[in-house]
Amino acid sequence: MAEIVLEHVSKSFGSTRVIEDLSLTLRSGAFTVLLGPSGCGKTTLLRMIAGIGPATSGRVYMDGVDITALPPGERNVAMVFQSYAIYPTMTVRGNIEFCLKNNKVPRAERQRRVAQVARTVGLEDYLDRKPSQLSGGQRQRIALARALVKEPAVFLMDEPLSNLDAKLRTAMRSELIQLHQALGATFVYVTHDQTESMAMADHIVLMNEGKILQQGDPESIYRDPDNIFTAQFIGTPPANILPLPGSNFRLGFRPEKVRFLASEEALAYTRPGTVVTREMLGVEVLYKVRLPEGDVMVRSACFQYRAGDTVCLGVAGEDLYFFDENGLRIRSGCG
Ligand code: ATP
Repeated sequence: MAEIVLEHVSKSFGSTRVIEDLSLTLRSGAFTVLLGPSGCGKTTLLRMIAGIGPATSGRVYMDGVDITALPPGERNVAMVFQSYAIYPTMTVRGNIEFCLKNNKVPRAERQRRVAQVARTVGLEDYLDRKPSQLSGGQRQRIALARALVKEPAVFLMDEPLSNLDAKLRTAMRSELIQLHQALGATFVYVTHDQTESMAMADHIVLMNEGKILQQGDPESIYRDPDNIFTAQFIGTPPANILPLPGSNFRLGFRPEKVRFLASEEALAYTRPGTVVTREMLGVEVLYKVRLPEGDVMVRSACFQYRAGDTVCLGVAGEDLYFFDENGLRIRSGCG
């Protein structure tokens, strides 16, 4: 297990500053997800931890030891890439044991570790095949096995599931959670997919434009957004944000917190509206409803409304967020 600390790190490419004075602690043994839109600097941070893209300034520590200048091979980390980075001409076995051979690990020990890791990722029957004879999911397992066999203290994963189809992605997600539980190692996982982050993370670090906008466990980050960006990035569909008459402040609430009111109910926020669209989701329906202030999304188990229907929407006080003119949450007076 290992704790990683990034202290005042910045990164520039030429005159473009990609990471801006960022400090972050990645708890030992936690599954931390670096989440944010494309280009926000997630991969850049991961590469700093791996030692393959050094920070322009700032320090990186592992368990209190300054590793800023340490080469990747000496860091006790392993990285799993989106592109798998496997050798097509080698067999599965060859791919998995490659780094062990490089490190002159004796043959018997190599065989033992390869067999064990192959079992862990379910590749034991495919060790003599070439990657081209395997499915996408199995190839991703090779990439995982290659990281596992190094027995690192820290696993760095850069969108490792993004080349898989939706069904396989969900299955691999749960396998990664189990793997993390079994190993107890520090996992740092990069994704732009908030659903993936919510499903897997102990700790989410939400980034935008090279900065951390909020971090915390998935539940608190979902329930208690610090700003409009978080409220809209986390959750499906994003939180509704509406102007407040006569001010620069804005009101926010999640689509799943909206209720259809059959009669006058004393809720903090009630509005008449017209249903614009209706999408069947299975256990719920997603409605777009036009209110005087703008359109909002509503996720509801009430199936009976149709486009054109006049409805009354309500949101309880504790489910309302208020944001200032900079998009930051106003904490007092929001129920
Ligand atoms: P994605 O989800 O698309 O992979 P990301 O959040 O991982 O995005 P990074 O890959 O860290 O983002 O890139 C952050 C910014 O740095 C981007 O604007 C990118 O264009 C820029 N960048 C990354 N690597 C380089 C480089 N070698 N030279 C110049 N600019 C770079």
